[in-house]
Amino acid sequence: MDLLDTLTAKGLRGEVPTREEALAVLATTDDELLDVVAAAGKVRRRWFGRRVKLNYLVNLKSGLCPEDCSYCSQRLGSKAEILKYTWLKPDQAADAARAGVAGGAKRVCLVASGRGPTDRDIDRVTDTMAAIKDADPEVEICVCLGLLSDNQAERLKAAGADAYNHNLNTSEGTYGAITSTHTYADRVDTVQKAHGAGLSACSGLIAGMGESDEDLVDVVFALRELGSDSVPVNFLIPFEGTPLAKEWNLTPQRCLRILAMVRFVNPDTEVRIAGGREVHLRTMQPLGLHIANSIFLGDYLTSEGQAGQTDLDMIKDAGFEVEGAGEATLPRHRADIAEAAQAGGGCGTAASACGSGGGCGPCGGHSHAPAQAAADAADAPAAEGSDDELRSDLVKVRRRGAGTELAPNA
Ligand code: SF4
Repeated sequence: MDLLDTLTAKGLRGEVPTREEALAVLATTDDELLDVVAAAGKVRRRWFGRRVKLNYLVNLKSGLCPEDCSYCSQRLGSKAEILKYTWLKPDQAADAARAGVAGGAKRVCLVASGRGPTDRDIDRVTDTMAAIKDADPEVEICVCLGLLSDNQAERLKAAGADAYNHNLNTSEGTYGAITSTHTYADRVDTVQKAHGAGLSACSGLIAGMGESDEDLVDVVFALRELGSDSVPVNFLIPFEGTPLAKEWNLTPQRCLRILAMVRFVNPDTEVRIAGGREVHLRTMQPLGLHIANSIFLGDYLTSEGQAGQTDLDMIKDAGFEVEGAGEATLPRHRADIAEAAQAGGGCGTAASACGSGGGCGPCGGHSHAPAQAAADAADAPAAEGSDDELRSDLVKVRRRGAGTELAPNA
């Protein structure tokens, strides 16, 4: 297939495809799917070998957010019966983080719901990072606290944060349809603030919110342009009690095509399968490992993932290996670009940007705008490959780990 030969050749050289080529990946058929996965797999192995980076989420503050992101179980007015709690104490967060690191996680992602942190919140997170790094100085810490004000990114960097997550989530053109309390430009500004302060930028997307193929391609190219070092790909978890509860329009095949498109546009950038992996890829998860080089271990912010040991078994069974603490995630040339951008106080010029499965994260196209989708989801036709049935049975609210008396899943 000419398209895949072209994309593979470009990916092996670290080149970005054209927008038309990216769209063509999303338009491939199920008969072509294994060829698409194989082509993306060659690019993945060129830059990341068979390593899988494990990341572990700690939800520092859950629920009760004043923002109205329609995909989020923690949003204003959410009726999802999730855990709700205020800031974990540093030792509680450090205990949760330790479990993830013991399970093989290289990076701990500290997430708090809310529009953005106060300066007091930055102090809290500073204390929490100190407690985590006291126990394990090698662990990478990514912080996800929402929109940043001036100087907060610098304070986090000085306190030991390695990365900051803030997802763009969807295209600029449809952003207003999923959230009204902040803008796409606000999100871009925070990614730039984080990157400008010398934090590695983590920014990704959520697929399955009713967006078009063009929207997906737009946001993925925007992430590349912003200079994200890691791109989490969330597949919408349609929580009961949120406006997108009926948006079950992803199939495992669709998810793999989306992952492949993200890989081709970001050949040498960390691509992470984030929230919704178990819910939407289901038994096809191992094929995702041939495309992405990073996953979350165990549970998500407000929903449960498969057992951490099952994640480890899956990686081993599929012939991959967990990336060790001493191994660099990014290829040398990308790490150089990231370091230069951080030293220079600005985003890299390389075609790359940032994301999380965070509070502002883990979440899942057909062709009408998301807000419209939220409004008339009940009447929406079945999307590509949809079996036209609600699969609420697949969404399990998190009842263990941070904020509970039960052991974390790691
Ligand atoms: S995604 Fe973040 S900002 Fe938006 S409602 Fe959820 S916790 Fe709040």
